[in-house]
Amino acid sequence: IAKEMGGNHVRYYTAAMQDAAMVRKRLIDDLRNAVVQKQFVLHYQPIVSLKTGAIYKAESLIRWLHPSQGFISPAVFVPIAEKTGLIIQIGDWVFKEAARQIKHWREKYHSSFQLSINISPIQFQNDDMNHVGWLNYLRNLGVPAHSIVLEITEGLLLDKSVVVSEKFIDFHGEGMQVAIDDFGTGYSSLSYLKTFEIDYLKIDQSFVRNLTHDSHDMIVCEAIVGMAHKLGMKVIAEGIETPEQRDLLAAAGCDYGQGYLFARPLPAMEFEQFLVGSLQPGCFSKNNI
Ligand code: C2E
Ligand code: MG
Ligand code: MG
Ligand code: MG
Repeated sequence: IAKEMGGNHVRYYTAAMQDAAMVRKRLIDDLRNAVVQKQFVLHYQPIVSLKTGAIYKAESLIRWLHPSQGFISPAVFVPIAEKTGLIIQIGDWVFKEAARQIKHWREKYHSSFQLSINISPIQFQNDDMNHVGWLNYLRNLGVPAHSIVLEITEGLLLDKSVVVSEKFIDFHGEGMQVAIDDFGTGYSSLSYLKTFEIDYLKIDQSFVRNLTHDSHDMIVCEAIVGMAHKLGMKVIAEGIETPEQRDLLAAAGCDYGQGYLFARPLPAMEFEQFLVGSLQPGCFSKNNI
């Protein structure tokens, strides 16, 4: 097509491509440097009980504080980290940072506080991911494995390779929990629900966005909740931005909610302030968890 448009366009197109390639190469170099210099930080978004409003869970979400460009979204750099293999070192940092944080919050706020960590399929598929090291790290910290929920995507569970299943068996054996992230957006096969022990399904925000206008989305949410509960799983809805969405999801029987309505992902200190501000009388009752 560029050729048909004439010589100038061809040159322009090539120049633009070179620019894009250079920007990308620069970003890869910067990311490599970021791993060495530890330019990452975890933010934490509360996961709220839709039944009681209590908060005993959060999801950790990584941010890259680039020295000249400011915060860079994981939606931008995680795919690059996956392609370059840097996700192994980054993921290792995420796990250990999250483990230290959960230890602190379990001691300070609630002994059953739980933290979700996003794990890329590339990490599971890579021999270099030192999952035994992770389990040892938890043991040395004195953090029980069931205080951590691994958020994975549906596609990973269709990967039957030994490297993947070995890690699942070891994690599960220690009591670590598993959530399916972005549920309903990946593969149409549900066969993996029979073979893997899953603790949580996270309804993707694309089903939540138009909930108040689209009755089909409500039917999908109700069906997910019905299936999950019968299979012994809990449901977390993502991307709740309005009280109406929260109320409809609660009416559908959804267990937990997460979204800007409650709080954005927050730095650790602000997350603590949010927790303290949201503590209600009786919220430490075990029944509320
Ligand atoms: P995710 O795990 O599905 O995370 C949910 C995303 O939705 C987050 O984007 C969160 O900030 C955003 N979100 C939360 N509430 C709302 C809401 O009410 N409305 C809208 N519009 N968005 C909301 P974020 O933080 O940019 O992360 C994007 C993705 O990057 C994550 O999707 C996850 O797949 C990946 N990611 C984040 N942290 C990590 C990490 O530590 N390791 C790996 N491997 N991936 C990560
Ligand atoms: Mg997630
Ligand atoms: Mg998600
Ligand atoms: Mg997502």
